Amino acid sequence: MNLHELLIHPGTSLPFSRELSTQRLSFPAVLSYPETPLGEGEIENSAGVLTLRGHIRALMHCRCDRCAREFDRRVEIPLEVPLAAELQDEENPDYFLLEGDELDLDDVLETSFILNTDSLFLCRDDCKGLCPRCGADLNEGPCGCKPEKDPRLAVLEQLLDNKE
Ligand SMILES: [Zn+2]
Ligand SMILES: [Zn+2]
Repeated sequence: MNLHELLIHPGTSLPFSRELSTQRLSFPAVLSYPETPLGEGEIENSAGVLTLRGHIRALMHCRCDRCAREFDRRVEIPLEVPLAAELQDEENPDYFLLEGDELDLDDVLETSFILNTDSLFLCRDDCKGLCPRCGADLNEGPCGCKPEKDPRLAVLEQLLDNKE
């Protein structure tokens, strides 16, 4: 994306709308993207300071990290990315660097998507997961397995038994 016109005209903005390639957007729990993720917004030149604002919308078909159930997650990731034409602070680059007048929009969108995606994929916040013993889906109700005994407690019980 060429920003030449924007760079020489402070006070203007440039809209963008770009489909994201899902190649870099692979997470172990995401099985597919039923819709192509879309990034939309505008880049604003405010007194020489460039900021990209907008959002990315995506639909992910996922497998729950706890119970392996499949579900869809729709996300809208807000974007507010400062851009800079020159490297200002090598230690803390909290802005995205242009290459001359060129902005690698795909890279900005993909990187923002990855950084803002929660790495835990749960079918619901309180998913109880599977029983480690019998593999039953605990969201369906208790499975009947006895809870695992705390080994420290078992030692204590043994001591008490010996006393009697
Ligand atoms: Zn689950
Ligand atoms: Zn069980």
